[in-house]
Amino acid sequence: MEMSNFTENQMTVRDAIGKICDNFPNEYWQEKDRTETDPKELHAALAADGWLGIALPEDFGGAGLGISEATMMLQTITQSGAGMAGAQSIHANVYATQPLAKFGNQEQLSSTIPDIISGKTRVCFGVTEPNTGLDTLRLKTTALKSSDGNSYSVTGQKIWITCAQVAKKMILLARTTPLEEVTKPNEGLSMFCIDLDRNAPGLDMRKIRKMGGNAVDANEVFFDNYQIPANTLIGKEGQGFKIILHGMNAERCLLAGEALGIGYAAIEKAAKYAKERVVFGRPIGQNQSIQHPLAECYMHLEAAKLSTYHAARLYDNSKDDKSITQYAVGVAANAAKYLAAEAAYKACETSVMSHGGMGYAREYDVERYLREIFVPRIAPVSREMIKSFVAEKVLGLPRSY
Ligand SMILES: Cc1cc2nc3c(=O)[nH]c(=O)nc-3n(C[C@H](O)[C@H](O)[C@H](O)COP(=O)(O)OP(=O)(O)OC[C@H]3O[C@@H](n4cnc5c(N)ncnc54)[C@H](O)[C@@H]3O)c2cc1C
Repeated sequence: MEMSNFTENQMTVRDAIGKICDNFPNEYWQEKDRTETDPKELHAALAADGWLGIALPEDFGGAGLGISEATMMLQTITQSGAGMAGAQSIHANVYATQPLAKFGNQEQLSSTIPDIISGKTRVCFGVTEPNTGLDTLRLKTTALKSSDGNSYSVTGQKIWITCAQVAKKMILLARTTPLEEVTKPNEGLSMFCIDLDRNAPGLDMRKIRKMGGNAVDANEVFFDNYQIPANTLIGKEGQGFKIILHGMNAERCLLAGEALGIGYAAIEKAAKYAKERVVFGRPIGQNQSIQHPLAECYMHLEAAKLSTYHAARLYDNSKDDKSITQYAVGVAANAAKYLAAEAAYKACETSVMSHGGMGYAREYDVERYLREIFVPRIAPVSREMIKSFVAEKVLGLPRSY
């Protein structure tokens, strides 16, 4: 990747994270993927050096940097060969904690943030549901307040929850006022930061077997009158969707950076192989049919890189500069996630094909990258929904969904 014009902070992050990731080579990730074991050593190494608090407030032990630096951190992790598995093992600790840091009260912050930064507490993000999918505003999980006001009872089901098996806390989006009783569907949802107490009644979870990123668990999580204290509510009741959007825009920036990292790693591997592999008496990389697709992928990644770091910068600057609207941040973050994921997918596919048969061998890693690059294409929001969002919100076309 061309590194000109990044900030000093971003370059420092890249350098430091790169050094940590050097201890976790491709063989480590091959093994974790094969054995489906949590990469807790990477999580611990990042926590030990304070990196999990990269974008959390300094008052609670964080570094107080922004999503621009966090995106660089996640890109560096995936680019090291860790892929989506490496990123997913920590990224909710960064993006899901953004709304907590912004809207949580002092007591909530002091009781959660230091433990998240130290690595004692891992976090997962509980939004997606099996029966409503991308139609988030219609999610069915309810949190009903008790008559004494001291607790909520949570009932419903979440799906695809990354790291739920290893997380102590979940940032949960649930409905506190029935859909029929609100004027707009984005009202009546609330955000909570809850404990996942596996010994308490009403909580169950089941791992989903999946295509890639097998080192990190993805889960169905079931709540059946699961009791949570009232003080786990973050911000105002009913305002959860607006609050969680703050985490969702950060998540799109991080996912864009993660995709870029895999894309660049795939291209780098392909270029190396194309220089070494000799067929018909010359390196395969001397053929334009190998060179040109790789060069094209590189240029698309570079364009997506600009979009990604533009979105991250807008996200950060919007905190103090009120002329940057959340609409502008949303458009930029969605566009960046889309462009980076598509550019990286093409890069991974081209890399596999440039390797010929060896592209299909686990030893060469690029098949793992290809399996994992589907994640930022699908999640946290699909390509189709981003296009519909841009068509409606930017181009003013009729809403199609
Ligand atoms: C590996 C992985 C990890 C994940 N981790 C998490 C996590 O930690 N926490 C979490 O909450 N979620 C997580 N997710 C869930 C993810 O965000 C969702 O899978 C994603 O939002 C898509 O939702 P869905 O699967 O329900 O798709 P659906 O809503 O069922 O959509 C299926 C397809 O139909 C298309 N579609 C649907 N409606 C329309 C329409 N009106 N117009 C055009 N196209 C449409 C979609 O674009 C998509 O292609 C994860 C998913 C994966 C695969």
